[in-house]
This record gives sequence, C-alpha cells and structure tokens, in this order.
Amino acid sequence: MEDCTFCKIIKGEIPSTKVYEDDEVLAFNDINPAAPIHILVIPKKHIKSLLEVDKEDERLIGKIYRIINQIAEEKKFDKNGFRVIVNCGKDGGQEVEHLHFHILAGKPLGEKII
Ligand code: 5GP
Ligand code: ZN
Repeated sequence: MEDCTFCKIIKGEIPSTKVYEDDEVLAFNDINPAAPIHILVIPKKHIKSLLEVDKEDERLIGKIYRIINQIAEEKKFDKNGFRVIVNCGKDGGQEVEHLHFHILAGKPLGEKII
C-alpha cells in the first residue's frame, strides 16, 4: 500500500520544514498555516487516527505532549499560550489519516468552539 502523506514527509519524500525530530516523533510547519505559528507533531509510527491508539502507544502519546511543551518553550510561545487540536474522523474534519497534533500559536486564537 502507498504511504500516506505524513509517512512520505517522515521518509523525506515530501519536503517539510522540520521543527523537531527524534527516532519516534517529528514536528514540522503546516503547509497551510491557520495561525502565525502552526506546527504539526506526529508519531513516526503510522497510527491512522486517535481511534487507533493502543495500550502500547500510551508512552508515545505522553511523550508527544512533552515535546509540544518543549517546542512551546523553544519557540517562546509558552508564556502567551497556544492551542493543541486533534481532529478525528469525518465529523472531526480529519483530512490526513496519520495521527497528528496541531499546535496553533502566535496570536489570540479567537473563536472557541468550547
Ligand atoms: P487535518 O485536517 O487532517 O486535521 O490536518 C491536516 C493538516 O495537514 C492540514 O492543516 C494541512 O494543511 C496539513 N498538510 C497536508 N498536506 C501537507 C503537506 O504535504 N505538508 C505539510 N507541511 N502539511 C500538510
Ligand atoms: Zn502515515
């Protein structure tokens, strides 16, 4: 089966502007930013969506949140704050079927759904 868009980014087959990388996690700028700072954080393991997260992924998901907080400090938007969004499935508006965490920052993010 063909790799998904984000697996291609992980493999370097699609270029991206990387913000963070280790053996398990990659963070890169969103191609169509919805805020001055819009970073996607993904596990290198191809997990289709939040619904596919298994018990064995619990440590990895915790690590992703720690990396988000590290990026916030490094990029200096920790003090002003930010928003983390995970879209899941059709009604959630998920377009790329590889689990990803949107980080939005750099301005008051305005309208809140909740
Ligand atoms: P979703 O709607 O699935 O939650 O978010 C997918 C996100 O991936 C969108 O914000 C979209 O702009 C971003 N995206 C889709 N294709 C690419 C790509 O090839 N490169 C980068 N950097 N971002 C992408
Ligand atoms: Zn993938």
